[in-house]
Amino acid sequence: MTATAMPEEPPALAGELISAAAIRQRVAELAQQVRADYEGGDLLLVGVLKAAVTFMVDLARELALPLEMDFMAVSSYGPGTESSGIVRIIKDLDVSIEGRHVLVVEDIVDTGATLRYLLRTLQARRPASLRVCTLLNKRKARKVEVALAYVGFEIPDCFVVGYGLDYEEQYRNMPHLALLADDTQPAE
Ligand code: 5GP
Repeated sequence: MTATAMPEEPPALAGELISAAAIRQRVAELAQQVRADYEGGDLLLVGVLKAAVTFMVDLARELALPLEMDFMAVSSYGPGTESSGIVRIIKDLDVSIEGRHVLVVEDIVDTGATLRYLLRTLQARRPASLRVCTLLNKRKARKVEVALAYVGFEIPDCFVVGYGLDYEEQYRNMPHLALLADDTQPAE
């Protein structure tokens, strides 16, 4: 048998930060708030690929409202965990948002740079309303102010993985959120 290169071991995790059960409960609570605010409206959920997918799908399932979903992909990070401050659209929405009630679903707001860019871009397309629902908020890391209508959890300024969030594409499928052991920074 020919030897194949083994993928590098992902870094160790420092235990659980937020359990799968706690996430489930908080997502249900957020869904209740969103449902109350958008009842009877024409809601479009805009998810930011890839990390927000897990949260957005779980939130949408709990919402029990007629809604549509679309996705954007932006890049704000290089291969490392430090924000570069550079944001660009890699994949745009498939639908027009003009006159629609748009709820941007984010996995995490860190410096706020990605979200500010995204909100400016979307606002220019004249939606009827534009708000943000984020699962995680790193308040202490904020460099750019952004309004968050719904926040799942406030977390410390550490690098977290799981529930859609990755470390070099690993850990997205973990049902809970964890910190990397000693908050490891990947090589640039
Ligand atoms: P911001 O522009 O707010 O600094 O960064 C937002 C993006 O950075 C998030 O959507 C996410 O992709 C990434 N990010 C920020 N903090 C973390 C973190 O703790 N873990 C992971 N996996 N990604 C993060």
